[in-house]
Amino acid sequence: MNFHDAERLLGLLRQDGFIAVDDPKDADLIVFNTCSIREKAEQKFLSEVGRLRRLKKQEPSKRIAVLGCVAQQQGKALLERMPHVDYVVGPQNISKFKEVLSRESGVLIEDNPDIAFEEIPAQRAEGVSAWVNIMYGCNNFCSYCVVPYTRGRERSRPPESILREVRELVSQGYKEVTLLGQNVNSYRGGVSFPRLLEMVNSVEGLERIRFVTSHPKDLNDELINAVASLQKVCEHIHLPLQSGSDRVLRLMNRRYTYAEYLKKVEKLRAKVPEIAITTDIIAGFPTETEEDHQATLRALEEIQFDGLFGFKFSPRPMTKASKMEGQLPEEVKAERLSEILELQDRITEKKNRALEGRVLDVLVEGPSEKDPRMLTGRTRTNKIVNFYGDTPRGSLVKVRITRGLRHSLQGEVISGSPSGRHI
Ligand code: SAH
Ligand code: SF4
Repeated sequence: MNFHDAERLLGLLRQDGFIAVDDPKDADLIVFNTCSIREKAEQKFLSEVGRLRRLKKQEPSKRIAVLGCVAQQQGKALLERMPHVDYVVGPQNISKFKEVLSRESGVLIEDNPDIAFEEIPAQRAEGVSAWVNIMYGCNNFCSYCVVPYTRGRERSRPPESILREVRELVSQGYKEVTLLGQNVNSYRGGVSFPRLLEMVNSVEGLERIRFVTSHPKDLNDELINAVASLQKVCEHIHLPLQSGSDRVLRLMNRRYTYAEYLKKVEKLRAKVPEIAITTDIIAGFPTETEEDHQATLRALEEIQFDGLFGFKFSPRPMTKASKMEGQLPEEVKAERLSEILELQDRITEKKNRALEGRVLDVLVEGPSEKDPRMLTGRTRTNKIVNFYGDTPRGSLVKVRITRGLRHSLQGEVISGSPSGRHI
């Protein structure tokens, strides 16, 4: 979401003749796009921005702006704390960035009910895949999470506007879109999310559709059927579980039990047998016992996710969980997180190895970063595959998997441009 916010800001600034440069020393305007989901991201930003104090002193005409959730959280206090910063703009106010730029300095952190109706021409990174926002904000107030406070209430973009953007992207050569929302499947833009998928599926020239992040409470049969039946919708879902303990899930205000979550996973796998399921887990939520932690490990064993993002619980301002009693020491959180990650690494590797010998459709993204003689691409299940070949970016090739590694697959091309649905 943050990455795409930066693409949207770049698109806006380009209209005014700004171009991106690599070195802050060459810039007239320096923008920090900040994240406050966990404390670490926020601290990283504070140390980076502190380093610009000298540069600003030497060249006072350079302007420094802070965008994103830290800006939203701190508002005017950030200007007071960092007097070399000129502008503070929350993530709901990107469209008004130019307005604030015409002033000496300013803070813009109002709630923006019109956000879903704004058309901002994003300047995207080159590639085959493009992010497309379909909804903003969050209504869920999970007890640990700062997002509802920084990004405001859920607001869905009208389907016509989404389709216009997707068609435009296809005409620019993009092959894949990833529909974006804090809870992408809670979309309510006049049509249901499964219906929206159907509409995007009918865009000619588009090859693949992905969507992140889905909230388990809004994963219904209609959506499962849409994933099963729509040809372009890829067989992958990111479905954060957060914890395997019902007691912790309740404290987190997640609105599902582990059994309910598991049932949805089983339904998904029954209807879409090849589906890859990835998840998010928080280690060391306040009051989490060793027993709760073991329940999470058991859940990972039972579900056998394809991948996982794990985080140590981080107390965030304004959230209920940050004020709960029973905060755990850093070492306990770290220890539990590493057990979670180790277990999942073993599972991921085992699942990747099971793909050896299979022939999968791979959308070519370009030369591999590690070895430029190789190409890299993704399967429909969102697994990275590296292979030798010279097929141009954006082509679909059939690749036989020769090796399943911990974080990627290796393969060999067996043909170009397949048609139909093989995964
Ligand atoms: N809207 C999405 C995820 C948004 S944040 C959802 O509900 O699934 C991405 C992930 O960051 C979350 O799934 C959660 O695992 C993690 N996260 C959020 N707040 C956190 C916190 N305070 N401490 C640790 N991890 C957190
Ligand atoms: Fe945060 Fe929960 Fe909303 Fe996700 S659903 S953004 S974790 S409050």
